[in-house]
This record gives sequence, structure tokens and C-alpha cells, in this order.
Amino acid sequence: MAASSFTLSAFQIPTSPPRDNGNAAVAASQSSKELLDLHFSSPSQLQQLHARLIKSGLPLSSSLPISLARVAAICALSSPSDFSYARRVFLLYGAAPSETLLWNTHLNTLSSSPCPGEALALFSRLRFAGVLPDTFTLSFVLKACSRFPLSLLLGRAVHALVEKLGFRSDIFLLNTLVHMYASLGETASARLLFNVMPAKDVVTWNIMITHYTKTGEMAVAQQLFDSMPERSIRSWTAMIAGYVQWKNPSEALRLFRDMETTGMQPNEVTVVAVLAACADLGELDLGKRIHAFAMQCSIHKNNVRVCNTLIDMYIKCGCLQMARQVFDEMPERTVVSWSAMIGGHAMHGQAEEALELFSKMQEASVEPNAVTFVGLLHACSHIGLLQEGRQFFRSMSEDYSIVPEIEHYGCMVDLLSRAGLLDEAREFINKMPIEPNSVVWGALLGGAKVHKNVEMGEEAIHKLMELDPRNDGYYVVLSNIYADAGRWEDVARIRRMMKDRGLKKTPGRSTISLDGVVHLFVAGESEHPQIEEIHRSLDELLEKLRHHGYVPDTSAVLLDMDEKNKERVLYRHSEKLAVAFGLMNTADGTPIRIMKNLRVCSDCHAALKLISEITNREIVVRDRNRFHSFRHGSCSCKDYW
Ligand code: ZN
Ligand code: ZN
Repeated sequence: MAASSFTLSAFQIPTSPPRDNGNAAVAASQSSKELLDLHFSSPSQLQQLHARLIKSGLPLSSSLPISLARVAAICALSSPSDFSYARRVFLLYGAAPSETLLWNTHLNTLSSSPCPGEALALFSRLRFAGVLPDTFTLSFVLKACSRFPLSLLLGRAVHALVEKLGFRSDIFLLNTLVHMYASLGETASARLLFNVMPAKDVVTWNIMITHYTKTGEMAVAQQLFDSMPERSIRSWTAMIAGYVQWKNPSEALRLFRDMETTGMQPNEVTVVAVLAACADLGELDLGKRIHAFAMQCSIHKNNVRVCNTLIDMYIKCGCLQMARQVFDEMPERTVVSWSAMIGGHAMHGQAEEALELFSKMQEASVEPNAVTFVGLLHACSHIGLLQEGRQFFRSMSEDYSIVPEIEHYGCMVDLLSRAGLLDEAREFINKMPIEPNSVVWGALLGGAKVHKNVEMGEEAIHKLMELDPRNDGYYVVLSNIYADAGRWEDVARIRRMMKDRGLKKTPGRSTISLDGVVHLFVAGESEHPQIEEIHRSLDELLEKLRHHGYVPDTSAVLLDMDEKNKERVLYRHSEKLAVAFGLMNTADGTPIRIMKNLRVCSDCHAALKLISEITNREIVVRDRNRFHSFRHGSCSCKDYW
């Protein structure tokens, strides 16, 4: 039990000497010197002090409320006799009428301590001793219940007591009850109470909404949110953070924009949630605006969480430079900041920077974690640093006692496969102490494609069909491998297999955000209002590319058709459409940022390199695995992706 320390000085002993006998005078003179320095932290020490006080003959002072609260704290969960002793002290010092208040103070402390069960134990003791609870007692014990998983029965008993003692119109107490039921997962009870409450305030609504957002019932949360009479920043933030948590970032941003129109100012939690949504959607413009806002009202200065989210947002929006700036300006960095930045450099193909940052991290004596090593291994695999990668993999367990997780194994298989060491990669998989997943086998499949190894590709796809049968991406890769080897019958077989299993090739989709509006382009589709103009402008651009030596790489097209038609399909790939649209609608020199749902195909990769050169624009594409930053005719991935 946590016991607070108590000094005698709190008893406020009068300095005038006692009137009766010499013994008391000795004790009193002692009290001014030694007793004043004496602490007590157990009931027996308290009793000793009490005895000395009585012996000193000093009158029992009545100004002891603070000290008596400490007496309550020391004796609350001690033996039953100590508990009774504390109660007698209260009586003796004339504090019996405010006894509940004295216990409440300690009950409050216990209810928010790491052991809320102790608050429940104290409450039982008080009930047994017949101490009458007031609204505070009840709210503290309910708070403890909500933090103690097995306390539903007691919580219900307290609810009954609330009714019995006539507190049913106390809105604060009822809110605590709703919160208690919600925290213990009793959604139905929480909702029932919420529904029958005679009056609710904004807190009541927020408790219920937050509960639904935590359990993922976003539709119910939205329904309540829509019918709220008034909303606080907490209501908005709960909804926005809920949508982010449940992978609906567009809805989160829609709500945030609604919130802005009401003039409500975001707080730190809102800022973090909105930035996370911007990161998911690649909404750089809004992300920048939130950054500026956070700086303006000094939310982000020295706030590590906001800075870390900013770094993540800038990285995911392809703005590595800005991410690095935020990182460099942070007065204090956590392992999350370091790992995010290392991972960011890795994703953007800047392996040297990632490794350099790791050295700095070690200089700063920040202990790396599992995420740091995912970043480092990514850096090595994206750029083919075989030796360094092997070394990091060894070092993480040997030097830092970090047990490699599936991501680390995936990176290693990727590293080996890309380097062409396919046999070693397979052996590595076979020796893994954990079950390899589809990412691990997918990495081997990728290596088999790059190095045109049909046999290895077949082995990988065999496993992938078991692990992830609905993912069409693998079949497409295998079919590419067959096509590369000129095995057209196998290409046809794979296509038949996809058809039989009802799998369709996921269409390529690219998005580009312009003035806060997201424009979507789907391969071969012509839904966009400007599509004819885009096609015309793209065809002109491709014509220019041909003069610069561009030859369409039709191996990326799986369909059975002649070369001319294959070229036509290639020309309508979503990332090409998005780039053409970006070029048409932005000023010269503005970087173009695109997000794509699949891996960029080899033909688009070659075309985008040339486009970046001819138009003198930076083009950043975030595909399923990484970033490609095309500048002056080359890509940050150095054609290794
Ligand atoms: Zn393409
Ligand atoms: Zn690239």
C-alpha cells in the first residue's frame, strides 16, 4: 500500500510551554526540536507520535483537517484495528462530522492510482463501518470501477446506491456511471442509462460517442454526433480520431472541414488525428496548413507527439525535406522520431542518409527499437546494400536483444532476392523460427521476377495461393515471369485460373490532390470531366518522349492483343493520366505528387523519368511499397524497386 509521509509540524503545536508539570515541559521542549523533524508513514509510528503528544499535555488542536486526511491515508487499508483507530482519532479531534470528506480525499487518490482495486477495498470497508457516502465518494468509487475490469457487479451496486440515496438527478454522477458501464464494455447498460437520463450535458454525449468510436461503431457514433444539441472540441475530435483509427481518413477530413466552418479551434489531439488522416491520403496542402496552424498557436513547439505526426505526414506525402526540417528543429527526439525519419529516408531510396542518421542516433544514445531496424533493413534492401543489411539483421538481436519480427524477415528475404541470391533467400525462409507470411513469399516472388527465375516463382506462388488466395497481384507477377520466359501457354493457364477463381486484376488507380480536391484516375476509365483534354495532352507528351528515345514496354500488359492495342492500354495507365492532369493544371516548376494503389509498372517508370526531364518537373509517386522521386530524368529508386 502506498503510504504518504506525515510530519509532526502539520499538527501545529503551540509554542507556549505547558502549564502543569516538569515532565511535560521536557517533552514540549523536545517537540520543538526533534518532534518537528519526525515523519510518520505507518499506523504504529502515528500511534507513537500520538502518545508523545498526549504526554506533552498540549491541548488537542482543532485545526487539523489536512493532517487528519493523512491519518486517513495511512490507516485506510491497514489492519481493521488501525482503521478503527483512525476513526477514533477523528472523533477525538472533533472531525467526525466531516469523516466522509477525510476518506474521500484518499479514495480519490486510490481511484486514479495504478491499483484502482484498493479504492474498491476502501469503499467496502467504509460501507461495512457504516460511513455514509456522498456524491464524491460514489463518483470516486465509480471511477475506480471503470478502471478495474472485474468490478461490474460492484459498479451495479453503486448504481443502486445512487438511486437509493436520491442522487438520480446529479448529472455529474450519472455521467460517471455511463462512463463506468462504457469502460467495462457494457454498451447496452451505458446506452440505456444515457437514454433515460432526465438531462444530459455535452460530457454525457461525448462519453457515449467516444465509446462508440473506440468499439468501431462509427455509424452509431455519427448518428449521436448528428443529434447533439451542442458540440465541444472533444466531440469533434472523438469523431475525427475515430474515423482515422478505423481507416476512413476521407471521412475524418470531411468532418474536420465541417468543424472549421463552425469556427471551432482544434486542440493538440485534433491536430494529431487530422495529420494522420492527411498522411493516409497524401493530402499535403491540408497537412501544411495544419502545420502552420500548430506553429501559430504554439501547439507543436516542444510537443514530441505533434512533431512525430508531422514527420510521418510529410514523409507519406513525399515531402522528405520538410519532414527532415521538422526533425532537425525538434529540441527533443524520441525513438519514434528517429525511427520515422530513418524509415522515411529508406522509403525514398536515400539509404546513405538513413544509415548516417542511425549513427547520429547512436551518438545521441537513443536505444533503437524493432521499428528502427525495419527502416534500416528497408534502406539496405531498396538499394541493394547486401553486407550492411546482413550486419543489421545480426546486430539487432546480438547487440540490442531485439527479437526479429515478420517484417524484419520480409526485408531480409527482399534483400537477398533482389541481390539474386534466390537459393539463399529460400533457405533463409525455411530456417525462419516463425511461420513465413505472404509478404515473405511475395518478396521471393518479386526476386524471381527480377531475376527471371521461373522455378522459384512457381514455388513462391504455390505458397502464396495457400496464404493469400484472393490476392490477384501474385498471379499477375507469375504471369509476367512466364511472359518474360516466352511461355505463353502458362500465361494463358494463369489467366484461366484467375478467371475460374473469380479473380480480376485490380485496376490501377492513381490520385492527385489539387487545391484540396482529390482527383482519381483509373486505368482505362474515362470518368474525369477533363478526360478528353488529358488524353490529347498525354498523347502529345508521349510523342515528344518517343523523340527522346522512349519505346513502350508492352511486356507489362497481360492481355491477349496485338502490339498496337497493348500500347494503347499502356498509354492509359492511371499514373500517366494523373501526371498529364497535374502538368496541365499546375504552374511550371511545381512538383507533382501522385499516389498509386499498385506497384508502378516498368513502362510508366521509364516514361515518368523522361517526363521529369522534358518538363523539368519533380514527380513524386507513392506506390504500394515505396516512393519514386523522378527528377532530371532519373528516379530516387535508382531503378531498383
Ligand atoms: Zn504503368
Ligand atoms: Zn523509381
